[in-house]
Amino acid sequence: MRPFICQCCGLPFSPKIRGTNRDQSLSSDYCLDCFKNGEFRDHHLTIQDMEKKLLIRARHHDEISLEEAHDTIKILPDLKRWRMTHIL
Ligand SMILES: [Zn+2]
Repeated sequence: MRPFICQCCGLPFSPKIRGTNRDQSLSSDYCLDCFKNGEFRDHHLTIQDMEKKLLIRARHHDEISLEEAHDTIKILPDLKRWRMTHIL
């Protein structure tokens, strides 16, 4: 099965870490890191913050490589969460 791509952080996530909607159904758009109980975990996060977070993740963890982080940063403006801020 194709992994979901989180529409906030841009990273692929497995069905096990799907975010949860307000009614506790599972989200197909967001991972649990970003979205829980129908709300974003970090309301004040900006797209620039997300870019920094991805770079930090690539540097300090082994989850993603620096190259993956850069590729992910490129797609951030097209993701659901950031499309609106993109227009502003
Ligand atoms: Zn996410």
